[in-house]
Amino acid sequence: MKVIYFDNNATTKVAPEVADEIRPFFCELYGNPSSMHTFGGQIGTKIRQAREQAASLLGCEPSEIIFTSGGTESDSAAIKGVLAAVPDKRKIITTRVEHPAVLAVVRELKNHGYNVVELAVDKQGQIDLAQLERQIDDNTALVTIMYANNETGVIFPIERISELVKSKGSVFHTDGVQAIGKIPINLSESQIDLLSLSGHKLHAPKGVGVLYVRKGTRISPFMLGGHQEAGRRAGTENVPGIIGLGKACELAAENIGQENKKVKFLRDKLENAILRSCPDSMLNGDRDNRLPNTSNISFEYIEGEAILLMLDQYGICASSGSACTSGSLEPSHVLRAMGVPFTAAHGSIRFSLSRYNTEQEVDYTIEKMPEIVNRLRELSPFAAK
Ligand code: PLP
Repeated sequence: MKVIYFDNNATTKVAPEVADEIRPFFCELYGNPSSMHTFGGQIGTKIRQAREQAASLLGCEPSEIIFTSGGTESDSAAIKGVLAAVPDKRKIITTRVEHPAVLAVVRELKNHGYNVVELAVDKQGQIDLAQLERQIDDNTALVTIMYANNETGVIFPIERISELVKSKGSVFHTDGVQAIGKIPINLSESQIDLLSLSGHKLHAPKGVGVLYVRKGTRISPFMLGGHQEAGRRAGTENVPGIIGLGKACELAAENIGQENKKVKFLRDKLENAILRSCPDSMLNGDRDNRLPNTSNISFEYIEGEAILLMLDQYGICASSGSACTSGSLEPSHVLRAMGVPFTAAHGSIRFSLSRYNTEQEVDYTIEKMPEIVNRLRELSPFAAK
């Protein structure tokens, strides 16, 4: 059975161009970029090229790119690295809807005496900027707020937020893992100090990412040992991963406009048809300020997990809540923070598309969804019959 993959916020297919680019770096060009010989040294040139490709997508200098093992490492390094550089400041501001890669770190820091403020969000999943402004004080070491939410796709007004944070003299980090490659960004015109990116969300392999650190930002090295990544993140480079990430960034920069038009068209077609054909369904999150690929829909009276299992029988992959937290039956912390009632949060499904999806796949899913929802409602003790 052909797989219809609508779970691109969990991970993406490696682009064929990326796979081709990486292949020689396993068995032929396997040298260590730090070696003195030409065989290893030539790899250093390829890593430099990947750094330039990543910088070009982000609109920053290559020297501001640190390669990491992915979004989780970048988030941790940004938060802990900044705090270590300003040990006298003890306050961190974030939101309730961050990915666990941020929330688990700041909650752990709370146990170590930090004052952690988790800003509330409204029904649309947006924060109140006035509340953020009131919270930033002289003791605030860091404000960390995601660019776009992984579950709902809601985009925060990051440019306004970063201007506000900078005007108050604090440091600003954003988890850009879901946004980069999906919406344009130009860090040279922005006030963002640090940004996390993950390769496997933009058609590069898993296990590679970037932490962007604006020149002049005070941050302690987070992996000690060798001189790699200017001594800030030691360890022999993940050469194939980094080269693949560079190529994926180049492709994202080339395709972002055209492809997102197509992805948004498919997402809107899928979403509108489902909301029309399935009674008691509703969209979660700010309809207008959203990633073009993400749709989070709640279906009253039924469980998201049951919908997923039935979709799976048709070869359709989606997700209920965040893939990283699924496995537990706790309703999504993001939807709960938005005030989505418990039952609706339990019955939520996330469809996340990519440039590899087709209109036929969308049409097939549009056909199956009402059938699935109606069958589950017939079994549900809560649904009106
Ligand atoms: N941040 C966000 C918003 C994410 O969606 C994810 C992964 O789902 C991560 C961080 C973690 O990234 P990685 O899987 O590369 O560690």
